[in-house]
Amino acid sequence: MTDTLLDRPVDTADAARTDFAAPYALTIGGQRVETNTTFDVFNPATNAVLAQAPDGTAEHMEAAIAAAKQAFPAWSALSWDERGDYIARYADALEAHREELITLLTLEQGKPRHSMATGEVDASIKWVRETATRRLPDEVVEDNADHIVLIERTPLGVVGAITPWNFPVLLGLWKIAPALISGNTMVMKPSPYTPLCTLRFGEIAQGIFPAGVLNIVSGGNALGQQLAEHPDIAKVSFTGSTATGRKVMASGAGTIKRVTLELGGNDAAIVLEGADWKPLVPTLFWAAFGNSGQWCIASKRLYVHRSIHADFVKAFVEYGRTKTVGDGMDAGTDLGPIQNRMQYDKLRDLFADTKANGYATPLGGTIDETLAGNFVPVTVVDNPPEDSRIVREEPFGPIVPIIAFDTIDEVVAKANDTQFGLAGSVWGPDRDAAIAVARRLETGTVWVNEIHIHGLEIPFGGHKQSGLGVENGAEGLAEFTNSKTLMFRK
Ligand code: NAD
Repeated sequence: MTDTLLDRPVDTADAARTDFAAPYALTIGGQRVETNTTFDVFNPATNAVLAQAPDGTAEHMEAAIAAAKQAFPAWSALSWDERGDYIARYADALEAHREELITLLTLEQGKPRHSMATGEVDASIKWVRETATRRLPDEVVEDNADHIVLIERTPLGVVGAITPWNFPVLLGLWKIAPALISGNTMVMKPSPYTPLCTLRFGEIAQGIFPAGVLNIVSGGNALGQQLAEHPDIAKVSFTGSTATGRKVMASGAGTIKRVTLELGGNDAAIVLEGADWKPLVPTLFWAAFGNSGQWCIASKRLYVHRSIHADFVKAFVEYGRTKTVGDGMDAGTDLGPIQNRMQYDKLRDLFADTKANGYATPLGGTIDETLAGNFVPVTVVDNPPEDSRIVREEPFGPIVPIIAFDTIDEVVAKANDTQFGLAGSVWGPDRDAAIAVARRLETGTVWVNEIHIHGLEIPFGGHKQSGLGVENGAEGLAEFTNSKTLMFRK
C-alpha cells in the first residue's frame, strides 16, 4: 500500500474547485490517495447526495500515522520561525480558496452562506495566519547563584485530531495550526457527516507542507477509535459529544495518551433584575440560534428574572417570527437546516416530548416533516420545569427554554445543576454584581454583558463533563507540547 501511495504525483498548485461533486481524496504523506470505496455526503437542505467522500480503511489510517511519524523528526527540528513561514503560506493558500470553502461549507453543513459560513471561513483563515506568529519561549523559573532552571516546551509527536460536524472548518483549523506551529505532525479525521472541507484542507496543504506533516483520512467512526488507541499517536485533540469523549479517553488510556476534549454544553444565559433587556432580545436570539442551535456554546437555557420574563418572551417570539429557516445558499435565509438526519431525528423526539408534556411553545413547536431538507422551526418553550428534557439535555437545534427565576441563589443553583460546564453568560445593570454571579458559575468561560467572544490569547475549555484541557491561549498551545524541565549548574 505504501508503494502505491508514493507513486502518485504531488499537487503543487491546487486549483479552486468549482465542481463540488468531483472526486475527493485522502491526503497521506503529501499525496492524494483515492480509495476503492466511498460514502455519500448529503446536502442537508435537500437531502440529495452532494458528493462521494473517500471511505478510508484501517490500512489508510496506518499509512497516515506512519507518514506523520516519518515526517516528525525533520518538522520538529525546524525553528518556530521556519514552521511559522509554512503556516503563513498555508493561510495564503486557504485564502486563495476562500470562496470555494465558503460555498462547500454551506453545501455540506447547511449554515447560511452569506452570514455564518462566510464568518466561519474568514475567522478560521485569520486564526491560521495569527497562529503562525505564536511562540512558546523557554521560561526561566529559577536563576540563583548556583544554577538555572528552565522549562522548555517540546513537541509531542503525532497528534490525532477528531472533529465534529457543526463547525468543521473552524474546529479543524483550530487544531491544525497550533499543533503544527509547536512542532507536531498530524493525522486528522473529520466527521463522516462533513468531511469535504477538511479533505480540501489536505489537498490544499499538499503543495505547502513537507510530505507527512498534515494527513487527512475520512471514513467511519472506527478510524477515530484507531487514532485514539494507536501507540504512535502521542495526543488526541477531540471535539465532539461528551459520550464520544468518554470513549476517546478510555481508548487513550492504554498508551497514557495526552487528550484535549472539547465536549458538549448546556449553557445558561442569566438576565438579572433591572437589565436593559430590549437590546438583549436579538443578542440572545442569535446566541441561542446561531448555526440553528448546533453550537457547543449556544445559550441553551435562558433564565430571565420574573419581573422581565413575560415581556422578554413576547419580544423574543416577535423577533423570531421575522426570521426565515431555509436553504443556506439562499440570500434570504437566516437559519439553515439541521446538518444530518440523526440529529434531526433526535430533535423530532425532543419536540414530541415537549408536546406530550404540554409545555407552552409560543413560537414554533411543530416540525413539518414533509419538507425535503432537515428543516426545524425556531422554537421557544415558555417556562418548562427544571426536570424537563428540554432543560436537562443539550438539544443541539433551534429550540430554547426561557425560564423565570426569582433570586440569585436560585438561578445560580439551577445553572450549576448539570453535568455540563462549558460556558455561560450573565446580563445585568450593575457590572460588579453580574461579575459576582459569573464567579459562581461552574463553567470554563463566562461572559458578562457580552457573549461568544473568542481570541487567540483566550483559553477555551469546559469544566465538569464538558471537557478536559483547553484550546487557544498560551495554555492551549502548551497542550500541544510536553513540559521539559532543564537545569544546569552555573
Ligand atoms: P460525536 O461525538 O458524535 O462525533 C465527533 C467525532 O468523533 C466524529 O468525527 C466521529 O466520527 C468521531 N467518533 C465517533 N466515535 C468515536 C470513537 N469511538 N472514538 C473516536 N472518535 C469517534 O459528535 P458530533 O455529533 O459530531 O458533534 C456534536 C457534539 O460536539 C455536541 O455535543 C457539541 O456540544 C460538541 N461540540 C463541542 C465543542 C466544544 O468546543 N466544546 C465544539 C463543537 C461541538
